[in-house]
Formats: sequence, C-alpha cells, structure tokens
Amino acid sequence: MAIQYLAKELLHFFPKTTVSMIVSTGSGIPGIGIPKDSGYSIGKEGEQHDIRLGDVVISSPVGLYGGVANVDNDIQLPNRIKVLPRHVNSMSQDARGTVLDMKLHRDQETVRVAKYLVELQQKDAHMKRTCAFPNTAKDLYFEPDYKHQGAYGAGCQRCDASQAVKRPARKTTNPEIFFGTIASRKNLDIDVETRKGIKHDTGALAVQAGAMCLMYSLAPLVVTGIADYADSHRNEHWQKYAAATAAACAKALVGNVPIYDDEVCARAALN
Ligand SMILES: [Zn+2]
Repeated sequence: MAIQYLAKELLHFFPKTTVSMIVSTGSGIPGIGIPKDSGYSIGKEGEQHDIRLGDVVISSPVGLYGGVANVDNDIQLPNRIKVLPRHVNSMSQDARGTVLDMKLHRDQETVRVAKYLVELQQKDAHMKRTCAFPNTAKDLYFEPDYKHQGAYGAGCQRCDASQAVKRPARKTTNPEIFFGTIASRKNLDIDVETRKGIKHDTGALAVQAGAMCLMYSLAPLVVTGIADYADSHRNEHWQKYAAATAAACAKALVGNVPIYDDEVCARAALN
C-alpha cells in the first residue's frame, strides 16, 4: 500500500491530529566555506548556516517554499545541474505554529533538546553505545572538488583532512537547530554537483528522502538529523547519533503542538 494511503488511514483513526511530523536522517547542505563566486546561494552575511553532522534542520517556510521543496527532478545543463522543483503542499498552519514557537525560543529549546538527547543516551547500555557523539575529528566537510580516497562508505581515514573546510570550533557538542527549506527526493543517492544544484535553485539546508509524498495528505513538519554532506565521503558513522538528535528535537517540538479543547473551541465559536 502506498505511503499516502497509509497516511490517510492514520488520519481516519486519529481525526483530532493537529500536527504530523516526519523524523529522519538526511544530508546537510551548509553554506559556510563556499566561495561567493561558486554559484551557491549562501545568504546574507551571518546567515551562512554552519551546519555540522548531528545538527538538526527543521522545515520552515522560506520564500517560495512552504517548508519542503520536491527536488526529484534535475537536468544536466552544459555547466551545471539544474533542479526543477515541483510544487508540494505547505506545512499545515498548526505545524508552522509549532516550529515558530521553537524558533522564537531557540536558545532555550536548544538546551531542552540537549537534555532530551542525554536522557535518550542514558536510557540503557545499548543506547549509550549506539547514540554516543561520534567524534568531532570525524566531522569533515570537504571542499566540493576533493573526492573521497578509498572504498566508498569506509570512512575518511585515507582522506587529506587539510582539504576540509576550516570551521571554528564550537563551545559544546550539543546539536544546533536550523530552520529553513528541506529538499525532498525519492532517494538520497546524490553527488556534490546535484547538491550544488539543489542549494542554488532552492536554498535548501538539507535533503531527506520521502517527505514530499506526504505533504498533501499530512502537511507535516519535517525534522532531519544531519548524518552526512551528500558527497563521496558519505559513511555510516553519524547515522545513529543523527537519528538520536532528530528524535530529541521531535520530542521538544511535541511540547509546542497546540491542543484544542473541544468545549473551549465550541464556546469560542458561539461567542
Ligand atoms: Zn573521505
């Protein structure tokens, strides 16, 4: 059964659902370290989105996009990949409100997400092992032209770390939260050229798989834990940690979901 029909069934059984959420891992598209003449849309000064592995991107309306851009459609031009975004529904009004709440209290919410992440990691020995922060030294965001050395997916032990984009050290390893367009495709098998096309044509901060299929039925907000940078250096090291940070963020968002009391609503309608 197609996932869209399952979503409709879900709403049939839970008709009072106000906000749906898609929580997954995906690829980050940072703006930092990109030369201004590279063709990327890097935003204004101070908005370069220094996204790191384990950070979380939450869908939020920007410009033409209501949270999610369907980018399952790209063409090869002589000098670049051009992405032709297809229309998808926007996030629901309640989903927008839930995200806006978190955006307005970003600092406090970041602390809350870090607390939930620690609780998740300390749940038992298995979670402690699998959801631990991997290691800052393993988070290498390479220059687009520098190709992975060694077997695909095997880690970057043989790659030249001096080819990585220089980024300032962070004060903590707590995940940071970013808000903006999330690009969605059927699969995440993309290369740096396609990543560049997505960034240039949509300004997306992350790519994830499948959300566009549910935008019409659930109009969800999308939470994406960043596990790689959609390049040849992609590996599995950050998958579980990124899944844990996305889950912690989703838990914090649940606290912002509006709850409507039927009686209160009915009285407000009569007044
Ligand atoms: Zn590598």
